[in-house]
Amino acid sequence: MPPQPLDATPEQKAQVDEGDRSPKQLPKGVVLGPDGKPCRSCTSVSSWFAMAKQGTANPTNISTTTPPAQVTASLDMPADCPPDVEQLGRSAWTLLHTMAASYPEKASSEQQKETTTFMQLFGKMYPCWVCADDFRAWMKDGNEPRVSSRADFGQWMCEAHNAVNVKLGKKSFDCKKWEERWRTGWKDGRCG
Ligand SMILES: Cc1cc2nc3c(=O)[nH]c(=O)nc-3n(C[C@H](O)[C@H](O)[C@H](O)COP(=O)(O)OP(=O)(O)OC[C@H]3O[C@@H](n4cnc5c(N)ncnc54)[C@H](O)[C@@H]3O)c2cc1C
Repeated sequence: MPPQPLDATPEQKAQVDEGDRSPKQLPKGVVLGPDGKPCRSCTSVSSWFAMAKQGTANPTNISTTTPPAQVTASLDMPADCPPDVEQLGRSAWTLLHTMAASYPEKASSEQQKETTTFMQLFGKMYPCWVCADDFRAWMKDGNEPRVSSRADFGQWMCEAHNAVNVKLGKKSFDCKKWEERWRTGWKDGRCG
């Protein structure tokens, strides 16, 4: 599922509406950036390849044909290419959960202030703009970062990640297990 903005402009919303096949239509799932150009870090690798195959990387040259099956199938981008929305997301969650895992058991007021500021800036600067818009909206909607302790911050991060999981139709993660996943390793010892 492509990123779905909550408060994008009407023009931006039109660009990510999968069902819309109006003249400016890009292949399914391709999202434009604020500069009007396709946003790689907002788009899945399969949609990106579909666009490249269609020659629609420049929005003034847009085909309305359906991408052929072979380019919409799951594809692997070589490891040394810029990230798509999923690779960026996995890397970002790894950073965020690991930050929570190394957060102090009890944070000073300075640490709490800095961490809240970091999360607010993260919500502004995350390169997938539709993801960032929704993340900021989620934080504003009664989900301000809880940063008093490692337990609180880790739980909050898990809830933040679950909000995205739900939006994308994925299974929620059991937040009782966030520390095993991101700090201590699983109890069965497989992480050493
Ligand atoms: C702030 C933010 C907003 C995003 N918004 C969008 C969006 O709008 N649209 C979009 O397409 N993509 C979005 N993404 C990317 C998306 O969340 C996934 O990272 C991406 O789809 C790849 O998913 P994945 O299934 O490989 O695993 P990921 O969701 O990246 O998860 C990585 C690993 O984290 C663990 N995990 C899963 N859930 C939790 C949890 N709740 N708590 C702790 N650990 C967990 C699991 O072990 C999982 O394998 C966003 C990413 C971020 C950081």
